[in-house]
Parts: sequence; C-alpha cells; structure tokens
Amino acid sequence: MPPRLPLALALALVLPLISPLPLVHPLLEQPLLAQDALPRKPYGQFPKVKVDTGERSRLTVKKNWLGKRRPSPTVPILVLAGHADSQKMSGSGTNGHAVAVRGAPPMQPGMTDEAFWNLLTARRIAKLGKLWGLNIRFYDPGVRTIYNADDPRTNWSQGKRHVQNGGYALEIHYDAYGRDGYGSGVIPRVYGGQTVIDEALHQKFGCFPWDFRGVLGAPKRGITMLELGKLEGDVENKLRNPATREGALNYLADQVVTTIAKALGVPPPLPEIPATTVAGQEQAPPPQIPSPPVINIPVSSTDGQGSTQGAAGAATGL
Ligand SMILES: [Zn+2]
Repeated sequence: MPPRLPLALALALVLPLISPLPLVHPLLEQPLLAQDALPRKPYGQFPKVKVDTGERSRLTVKKNWLGKRRPSPTVPILVLAGHADSQKMSGSGTNGHAVAVRGAPPMQPGMTDEAFWNLLTARRIAKLGKLWGLNIRFYDPGVRTIYNADDPRTNWSQGKRHVQNGGYALEIHYDAYGRDGYGSGVIPRVYGGQTVIDEALHQKFGCFPWDFRGVLGAPKRGITMLELGKLEGDVENKLRNPATREGALNYLADQVVTTIAKALGVPPPLPEIPATTVAGQEQAPPPQIPSPPVINIPVSSTDGQGSTQGAAGAATGL
C-alpha cells in the first residue's frame, strides 16, 4: 500500500506550484479527499457473519471494579494483538481447539492460532474503528519473539507509554478452549483507572476481577485486555472457514468498535449529503438516488419496531 501514497502526495505537492490555482482549489483536494472520504460513508457497509462467542466469563459475578473515568471522544486508542511478541516462549497463547484437539494444522507455522487471530482481529478493529471516525490505530511489534517484556517494542511497553500519554490501550485475546478457558470478558486496566470503555466492554462481553491472577502484566501497565471468546466452537469454525472468515472478523471487530464508540459518545458517521448543498456541485455527477415512494403508514402500527440497529442484544445473549 505505501508505495502509492508518496506519488499521490508528490503530485499534490507539485501541482499547486506549477499551476496558477489558489492553494485550496477543490480540484486539487479531490484526490486526497476521495481517500479520506471513507469515514464519511455510512458505517457498517461491510459483510458480517454472526458469530456465537459462547459463554461469558464465569468470573463476571466477581466484578470488583467500576469504570467511571470518561476519556475524551477523541482519545487516542491503541489496539494490540495479544501474544504478538511472545511466540515460541511461555505465554504464547492458546493453540485453540482445532489444532490442540482435532489435530488441524496451525493457521501459520511458528505461531499459536490465538496469536494469529488476535493479529487479524486487532487489525480489523482499528480499520473499522477508523471508518467509524475513532482516533484509533493498531500496533504490531513485528518481531514475534521478544524475551524482555520491557523491550521498547513489546505490546506492554508501547501500551504503557500510550496510556502514560493519556491514551487508551486495548489488547485483544481469545480465551483457552474447554475447561481452561473462562469465556468472553474484559480484564480492565489497573494503572490509569477503569474507564467507561471498560465498563461498556463488561456490559457487552462480561468481565474478570481487576486483580485476576494477581493483576496481569498488561492491566498493571494500563492496558485493558479483552477476551473475545474461547477459541473453539462457532468462533473458531467461522474464523477458520475461508467462506465466513472475513464476515466473522468484521462481526467481531464491529462488536468492539460499536461498544467503544457508544461508550465515548461518538455517533456513527452520517451518510454523505447528496450534492445539492455542497460547493462545487458542477463537478459532481447528478445524484442517482431514486425518490422514495410516499407511503402513508398509520403511526400506531409501527411504533416501537422501527429501530433494529441498536439492538446489539440480539447479536449476543448467546
Ligand atoms: Zn491470550
């Protein structure tokens, strides 16, 4: 991807110099805007395959924290993939039911399936979060085995520094299969104090006590951990099946993005307003929007069933 950008940027920089146009001429802005315009499209126009993330953490009943801190809607959010820097060493994550029990080949040699799916899911969360308009990015340590947890490249070091600078950091995980796993849930950050994002993730996915296993390394450094579900059953099947993988990743990432955005009070991006009110409309092709049919619906009969979009509960409760 990056190779294309420098050319576009170079053109954008050079064109104003050689053409007698005002600096903010709309023609010059269009190529850049065309790419940046993505977040202005209605959010949610991607295929989704519903995934049953299974039971919620059985430790949810032991919740001993309350997320009250309220970050700014523009708080920088850093998404991390659990175990992305700790492969081939202790703490490399779960192999998942398919590999460990059914003997399936790992998704990628040299890496646990959890780390593999954490990477794809965390990346997708950042991508969809940007579409929503959140100030969110993904960090990949690149190196898959870093023995020193305090090496500046590790998830923990990057997350800690991010939180120290006032950001919010979220590390994505899938839980162990079978009886070793607890189910989906948030393990909230300790350093920095629990936030309304942590609270919302608890509502959505369940939770763990703040001092789970004597405070884990990530929460101690201010990084909230999210277990999306055990790596087994429907989650694992739909991730592994190439036909459902993209939709499943979108579904899972969307659950997280929507929860964070609502907690921060960030509304979804509005649809593009059709050309008529926008300056420079002479460039725009005539909108091909068919005029909606006028139907007189009796008010009483539709009350209360108009909105299914916000029915996040329908997607969970599984
Ligand atoms: Zn994990």
